[in-house]
Amino acid sequence: MSTLVMKFGGSSVGTTTALSQVLSIVLQEKENWSQLVLVASALEGVTDALIEAAHLAHLGNQRGYRRIVANLRTRHLALIEELPFGATERTALQADIDRLLFDMLDIYQSMSQSKAARAAVDASIGVGEKLSTRIIAALLRQNGLRSVAIDTTSLIVTDDVHGDATPNIPLTRAKIAQNLLPLLERGIIPVVTGFIGATAAGEPTTLGRGGSDYTASVLGVCVNATEIWMWTDVDGIMTADPRDVEGARVIADLSYDEVAELAYFGARVLHARMIGPLRQQQIPLRVKNVFKPQQIGTLIAEKETSRARTLKAVTSISGLGISAEQGLLRAPVNQLIGEALHAAGQMQADVMIASQSAAHSFTCLLIPTSAGPDAIHTTRQALEDHLVATPSNWRIQPITIITVISNQLQAWPQAAAQVLLMLGDIRVLALALGTSNCSLSLVIEMRDAEEGLARIHRHIISSG
Ligand code: ADP
Ligand code: ASP
Ligand code: MG
Repeated sequence: MSTLVMKFGGSSVGTTTALSQVLSIVLQEKENWSQLVLVASALEGVTDALIEAAHLAHLGNQRGYRRIVANLRTRHLALIEELPFGATERTALQADIDRLLFDMLDIYQSMSQSKAARAAVDASIGVGEKLSTRIIAALLRQNGLRSVAIDTTSLIVTDDVHGDATPNIPLTRAKIAQNLLPLLERGIIPVVTGFIGATAAGEPTTLGRGGSDYTASVLGVCVNATEIWMWTDVDGIMTADPRDVEGARVIADLSYDEVAELAYFGARVLHARMIGPLRQQQIPLRVKNVFKPQQIGTLIAEKETSRARTLKAVTSISGLGISAEQGLLRAPVNQLIGEALHAAGQMQADVMIASQSAAHSFTCLLIPTSAGPDAIHTTRQALEDHLVATPSNWRIQPITIITVISNQLQAWPQAAAQVLLMLGDIRVLALALGTSNCSLSLVIEMRDAEEGLARIHRHIISSG
């Protein structure tokens, strides 16, 4: 028995062209595997629009969120108009779309500042996935496959960290045994909503931006998948984000550790927390381009550590650096980190790197995109308010962490030397070797980020 879990990202489901690719991939893979499970994201841009609508609902801006809902309705209805549905399927889909969007207006109306509102936000921003999965399942049915859309509120049980929840694998496994495996046994192809889950008490949650990847990983683990394939809009995992540098190349294979570090330090091609469950169960993961299915993409699996020492990829992520010059011999770095953690904790930010000398201390804070567009501003404000009360001369500045991925970094000190050489005259504020032994991170000023990334990437390409 072989089971393939395939996840289709926003760009893979946003247009009729992309959806016909999805259909032909499913028709093809159905012949190769005993069971298929599909996970789908919302159409590209829909989650952003839903987050904006939830924000407007909080502000009581009824006109604003109604306009967004109306645009979403038009977009989804236009998409199904272009797809070759029969009259019954199309009418049922239109009714489904209208019902889901109508329910959302109710949710927006009820939003307030309480904790319950965070569940309401999650309920509303997960609607994009409910819409897209219904369209895909209908398309498969229309083409002779047995398929049904499933909302993961009935499958993925999470903690109650709204907006960035973590699934509980044993509880999720039990739900899946009850609600998903019987469908697979009957030869049905479930199209499951990415990104969303619910607490054990049934409150809606979401898994953080890009969370459909995480859904695919958790489902894969719980159905004992043979492989998981992530279909996206690039040819695989590349030496750098092709949107940031020229000449990025596909990497044929990576280890779980390497790809987890790459994702944690900013490469949005995969959700950072999706790797842990897969590594534990040793499920191979492939990343492939939905528009070029014949290409092999990238394979992520546990490998013998290769003897070849190469710099494989580079990524970057921006945030805030806080530094202080201290008059005292013992700089109060604990206090600095305490303040930073306090501010960061409120904003779901990570403190990624801290360093200290007799005269200086430095902390680097990272605010993930899941914390929302105002997060950097709010965190900076919170820190400035806290730090003003302390006697030191704090400086807050925009910084970028550039991370290079390689294997066996501890046994290969020349790698760090090469990277520093490549940076040349760019000032390095801090440097750290990842504990997994495959990432080297350097903090530089944000204004140097583009150049720093380009220099290191050129070196990766020329030495690879
Ligand atoms: P999806 O909607 O399929 O989940 P995402 O937009 O979340 O797609 O992720 C794919 C994007 O990730 C690519 O378009 C690319 O710009 C970006 N990306 C960042 N780093 C990398 C990398 N190292 N390799 C490939 N893509 C990357
Ligand atoms: N639709 C969600 C997002 O945009 C989840 C995902 O795409 O993976 O973040
Ligand atoms: Mg993604």
